[in-house]
Amino acid sequence: MPILFISDLHLSAERPDITQAFHHFLQKIAPQSEALYILGDLFEVWLGDDLISPEYHQSISELKKLADRNIPIYIMRGNRDFLFGQQFETLTGAKLIDDPTIIDLYGTTTLLMHGDTLCTDDIKYQEFRAMVRNPAFQADFLSKPPAERVAIAKQLRDTSKSETNSKSEEIMDVNLDTVLDVFSKHKIQNLIHGHTHRPAIHDIKANNLPAKRIVLSDWHDRGSVLVYSESGFQEETINPA
Ligand code: MN
Repeated sequence: MPILFISDLHLSAERPDITQAFHHFLQKIAPQSEALYILGDLFEVWLGDDLISPEYHQSISELKKLADRNIPIYIMRGNRDFLFGQQFETLTGAKLIDDPTIIDLYGTTTLLMHGDTLCTDDIKYQEFRAMVRNPAFQADFLSKPPAERVAIAKQLRDTSKSETNSKSEEIMDVNLDTVLDVFSKHKIQNLIHGHTHRPAIHDIKANNLPAKRIVLSDWHDRGSVLVYSESGFQEETINPA
């Protein structure tokens, strides 16, 4: 049975069609897998495990149902849902994994990332990331009452949106030197990540050897899953019944 990779669903109340496609995927496709990896930005916003929007309740219970069928679920934090905590693991039955994580994929050592740390041309974003990934910042944020957390998040999002509009397309993509550094540092020839919403299979040269950088698709226009098996991999579209 294959190992499945998805990312960047950005589930939200505004897109019930994506939520529906995700539930179809969890009910009909994921049960036929060896494991499911979700590489970040499953949810559009996550302000703490104690402040879960009602529209996320069913997705959480669908994840739990899959976990209860003994399909291992591994979830990486993205730049939208980096505040997942222990309670989230309990509720979903999923295991949170570090960014990056190395796995053995049918004999191929593979590095998994969300992908935002590769976008080093975006200096403002990297500064923002350093701030919000700081454990002290997070502890302080999570100790604030819900209304205050919602207000801070809205403010950060508005700032980020206005900055994004003024950034060039190149700045928002990965930096190729950073990519090559990652291949070298982790001594790998296979990388899977999401985040950029630029799905592709890049055949590159790293460590003086052929290498692959597989970029997962977001779910904005259609559901998408990377299906990886012993014989190879392919991207498949999710077609809800
Ligand atoms: Mn992202």
